[in-house]
Amino acid sequence: MFFTEFKEACNFELSLNKHLLNMLQSSGIRANLADLHLDEDGIYFTFPNGSTKKIMLYQSKIQEGFFRSNGDPFVHICKCKESEINLNNQDFTAIINYDMKFFIGIYSHRTQIKFYNDKPLSICPQCKITLDKFGSLQKFLVD
Ligand SMILES: [Zn+2]
Repeated sequence: MFFTEFKEACNFELSLNKHLLNMLQSSGIRANLADLHLDEDGIYFTFPNGSTKKIMLYQSKIQEGFFRSNGDPFVHICKCKESEINLNNQDFTAIINYDMKFFIGIYSHRTQIKFYNDKPLSICPQCKITLDKFGSLQKFLVD
């Protein structure tokens, strides 16, 4: 009896982990709904089974005025001024995306007035210093 329940719980956990990984590798997960922490070497997503994976963090929801004056958001990959402040910000998204093209929704108050599906974004200058030590994004996210 116990083993059946235990096995079912494990299977559930495995499929949940797989589902979350799929989400991270496609549309991403809102930062405020993800279990995230960061240090100098990365930003980490914690799965329900306790395992972690390095992710990227960027602002996917931007107010029109802010977007007009600040332009494209940067993508963060480790602890920097902006990622530390916005680690649980609901306008930010945790994602794994090697091609560096991202979804961005432009908002006027609560209404989305425009969106970009595959907007090429750059790594934030502060995070890039860390990335350069690893050589490539692939290497960085796997290590
Ligand atoms: Zn950064």
